[in-house]
Parts: sequence; structure tokens; C-alpha cells
Amino acid sequence: MSESDTTDRENPDETRRSHRPVWRDDGQLLQINEIFYSIEGEGVRVGQPTTFVRLSKCNLRCHFCDTDFDSYREMNIGEIAAEVARHPAEWVCFTGGEPLGQNLVPLAGHLKWANYKLHIETNGVIAPDERLFELIDHWTVSPKRYPVVQGFERISELKYVVGKSFREDRVEEELAEYVYLQPESSEPQYVQKALDVLSRHPRWRLSNRIHKILGLP
Ligand code: SF4
Repeated sequence: MSESDTTDRENPDETRRSHRPVWRDDGQLLQINEIFYSIEGEGVRVGQPTTFVRLSKCNLRCHFCDTDFDSYREMNIGEIAAEVARHPAEWVCFTGGEPLGQNLVPLAGHLKWANYKLHIETNGVIAPDERLFELIDHWTVSPKRYPVVQGFERISELKYVVGKSFREDRVEEELAEYVYLQPESSEPQYVQKALDVLSRHPRWRLSNRIHKILGLP
């Protein structure tokens, strides 16, 4: 990403246009990076057994990203559902990469019909298909350097990574019930920065990735 934070703030419409997905299609065949079982390690749902469906590709390139999301295999909805059914979780989390870059409506409808609870974790730059609001139970938006795009009917939680460039005046608190701050790493400077911000915003919460601490996927 070459744009500066200042540019993003000055011309958000232009920023949003330049990051619109180019790979969204009819949703019958999806590019899947991996499907795996673990516990939810962050936010309100922490600790709940979850099957994660990681969709390939992302419209951002965050410097702290530790996910190899570019590789994929194409899977149809039946193949994805069969893989999800191999695991015992009642929750399915769509993650990425950026899951809203692909058309999730048919897959989410299929899994909802099969009685799964559905969670999505998005970076908030791509406006979601409004049909998803009937299907997705839990919405996590994790803004990076960009403001949350318009079009989210509801957001369960906002999760911000607290690193060098994090600014508390850019937290869009009014969009969600919960705000989580997650230090970029366990380096004391980031932990302390998050604690300092929390001292000024006591309704916000500290988040950590407990699956990483426990050595889980
Ligand atoms: S938005 Fe998420 S998946 Fe995409 S590059 Fe940033 S941290 Fe990685």
C-alpha cells in the first residue's frame, strides 16, 4: 500500500473505489485458502469452538499480516459444506484474506439452512451484500487504515490492531456495540499504547489472540 494515512482520510471515496473487489462472482465456486477447526481466539466469541473457512485474496496488504491468503483451491458449495461437516463446531467463521471479496450469499444460505451459526470477519472496506444480514449472526469488522465503508446494517464488534500508526480518534465507536483493541504484538510499546488508550476509553476492551498463546491454529 503506497497511500498515506493522510491521503486515505482526505479522499475516502477514492480510496474505497480503488479497493473494490474484482473477483466477486456468482458464488457457486469459491476460492478457499483453508478450512480448519479451532476455537475463536478473539473478541466477544472468544473460546467458542469454530470451523474457520478462510477465503483467498485480500484487497489490503497490511505490514503486520501473518496470513498466507493468496494460495487457494476452487471449491463448490457442496464440497465446502462437506468439509465443514467433518468438524464438530456449531459456529462457522468466514475469514480471509477478505471474505467479502467473494460472493458468500449462496454458501452462507446453504450453511444457515444446515443450522450453523455464522460469523464473518472483514476489514470493512468492501460494502457487504445486504442479503448477508439475514444470514450472518455475528459481524466483526477490523478496520486497518481505512474508515469503515457505508453499507453495514449492523456490526457486532469493531477490532482495531494497535500498532505504531493506530490513532484513537479514528475509532468509529458509534458503529458497534463493542470495541476491541488488540496490540499488534506482545512488544511492550504496543501493549502499553493499548492500555493507555483504554484508560481514556474504559468502555473499550483489550483483545488478545488466545489461540496463538495456546499454540492452536
Ligand atoms: S486486511 Fe487482514 S488479511 Fe488483509 S492484509 Fe490486512 S491483516 Fe491481512
